Amino acid sequence: MSARIIDGKAYAASLGERITGALAPFVEKTGRRPGLAVVLVGADPASEVYVRSKAKMAKQLGMESFEHVLPETATQEELLGLIADLNADEAVDGILVQLPLPGHLDASSVISAIEPAKDVDGLHPINAGLLASGLPGLVSCTPLGCLMLIKSARETLSGAEAIVVGRSILVGKPMAQLLLAENATVTIAHSRTRDLASRVRQADIVVAAVGQAEMIKGDWVKPGATVIDVGTSRLLRDGKKTLVGDVEFDRAAKQAGAITPVPGGVGPMTIMSLMHNALVAAYQRKGFPAPALW
Ligand code: NDP
Repeated sequence: MSARIIDGKAYAASLGERITGALAPFVEKTGRRPGLAVVLVGADPASEVYVRSKAKMAKQLGMESFEHVLPETATQEELLGLIADLNADEAVDGILVQLPLPGHLDASSVISAIEPAKDVDGLHPINAGLLASGLPGLVSCTPLGCLMLIKSARETLSGAEAIVVGRSILVGKPMAQLLLAENATVTIAHSRTRDLASRVRQADIVVAAVGQAEMIKGDWVKPGATVIDVGTSRLLRDGKKTLVGDVEFDRAAKQAGAITPVPGGVGPMTIMSLMHNALVAAYQRKGFPAPALW
């Protein structure tokens, strides 16, 4: 048996087209494009790349993009001041603060300062609470993208046994809530979980969000399972730096029904889910029903 490779890049590209298509009615109604503000503090090279690619993608799809770069030395008050300005700015529908922040800044109070209706990263406690309550809100981008891919690969999630490996606020917890809302039976595993292998073996859906190269072995995967690999690690392989996931891909692909590659699986979906959330936030802030794009 050989798994179908879930092409996150292709899915993200088609979602991008649908997002662009859904902009026109918004522009017609409001006379402006949805606006996404991205905030970077400091000059971490990886964060700079992420912020630039998010801003570029927003423009490419036809949204307005506002980039704000604060120096590494910015104070909590300065950052909170910027967030307050963006909250009040009618042209801004979504606010994304690139994490991690420099060590002297308190990320959780910064996230909590974002107007929940503009929290396109879905990390505000109000949005996390809405998700946990089964109510509509803005959903964390990476798990939302994973859910889209899972739904593209399976006829139904109802009654499926799912395991989410990792329990971060960013990925694992919201992922588990989303699967639960789809009526999967969900196990959340973490660093203290005993006998992970036997739990993974029972799962029809595996979402791996750990950040440890190939820690989920291919022969743990149940035949026919849907495997979503969120993790990214760099390994030195044949003298070359190679990006690998949390799942031992080659062996897992022999067992799984469908599997995401790394790269080209979850990564492209994270940024496109952000664009999706910016569009949804724009519609909802104006009191219009958000278009269903997936
Ligand atoms: P965190 O470090 O916040 O969380 C990792 C989780 O893995 C924790 O819950 C931890 O458990 C758990 N864990 C650690 N070791 C084990 C183990 N041996 N067995 C089972 N569980 C374990 O990471 P994130 O959730 O932020 O990200 C996870 C991975 O996903 C990273 O590689 C990150 O780079 C990647 N990522 C990729 C994205 C993409 O777009 N492709 C987007 C976001 C993240 P405990 O809570 O007990 O410590």
